[in-house]
Amino acid sequence: MEIIQFVRAISTDMECPQCKRGRMRPLGIIMGQPPPNYAHICTACGFKCEYDKAYPTLVQVGEGEVLKVEEE
Ligand SMILES: [Zn+2]
Repeated sequence: MEIIQFVRAISTDMECPQCKRGRMRPLGIIMGQPPPNYAHICTACGFKCEYDKAYPTLVQVGEGEVLKVEEE
């Protein structure tokens, strides 16, 4: 049976650790497996860094559902 419901969207983004102004965006390059690392580049200064996820992430949570956020 289909379940139709309103959802809230939660986005997680990453600021540039170098200039603190830009946002980190994936280059589409996945390094090493497992676990995979996603190569990112800063939108402002071009600083490159790898993360274990591709930013920005988007999670949809149904009304009344509880989202467990893992501490890093
Ligand atoms: Zn930057």
